[in-house]
Amino acid sequence: MPSSYIIIGGNGFLGRHVQEQIRLRNDNSTIAVFDIAMPAQPEKDVKYIVGDLRKYEDVLAALDGIDAVIHTASPPHVNSSNPPRDLYFSINVDGTKNIIRACQEKGIQVLVVTSSGSVISTGEPMVNVDESAPYPPQAIDVYTESKIECEKVVLAANGIEGIRTCTIRPSAIFGPGDRQLIPGMVEVCQKGQHRFQIGDNTSMMDFTYVGNVAYAHVLAAEKLSDPNSPAAGQAFNLTNGTPVPF
Ligand code: NAD
Repeated sequence: MPSSYIIIGGNGFLGRHVQEQIRLRNDNSTIAVFDIAMPAQPEKDVKYIVGDLRKYEDVLAALDGIDAVIHTASPPHVNSSNPPRDLYFSINVDGTKNIIRACQEKGIQVLVVTSSGSVISTGEPMVNVDESAPYPPQAIDVYTESKIECEKVVLAANGIEGIRTCTIRPSAIFGPGDRQLIPGMVEVCQKGQHRFQIGDNTSMMDFTYVGNVAYAHVLAAEKLSDPNSPAAGQAFNLTNGTPVPF
């Protein structure tokens, strides 16, 4: 079990729940958070490091004394006809490469990265898919294109210079602290757009409770602590189960 964690993007919605899950799993582990901004309400037991993961020196300095890195940072997914491609790629791909390189330089062996269920989405109905589903020839949007590239980089790094990696693929995440899903639905209602229905109302979507998503990240980090872990080099689709206490 890791004794010192750093959560990259740890002040975000998911990142704050990862903090909580680490506390629930093991009271003795230390928690550091690397994020581009300080939180409004800092926690007493967290060491905060403000930095930009696009800057290698920031990342390298943050990883001193760390056993396990959980990387949840990403720009938000925006629905736009003009998506911020450079921003997505500079953070999700180049920033992730910085984290991998810094882990290798510091001899850190455990890296868990948040991917997205959308990386295998074809845009067509997908029922009971598992991790054998390939990346589609065409990503459903630019954000997803950057997440696919991120995932490829992370999985390809597994086993190189002692690092063990895996990715976690949640679909839509809900729960306390959500800044995208429910606020987005409220905005749709406020704009009166809820009067339009696309489809026949039988479509289904996967929503996963944030505590479960966070729990999966911490379990993955624990598993990767074993040098022979079969989780190393794997991507894991994540769907909902029974919510964990929060
Ligand atoms: P969030 O926006 O709440 O948190 C992301 C955090 O990353 C923020 O605190 C932000 O400040 C930080 N960050 C962004 N750019 C940074 C940079 N350059 N350097 C350092 N920190 C930076 O997002 P979230 O909803 O918690 O999402 C977490 C992860 O889960 C992301 O990788 C996202 O792609 C993935 N994901 C989210 C959902 C969802 O429904 N929220 C669904 C699938 C996958």
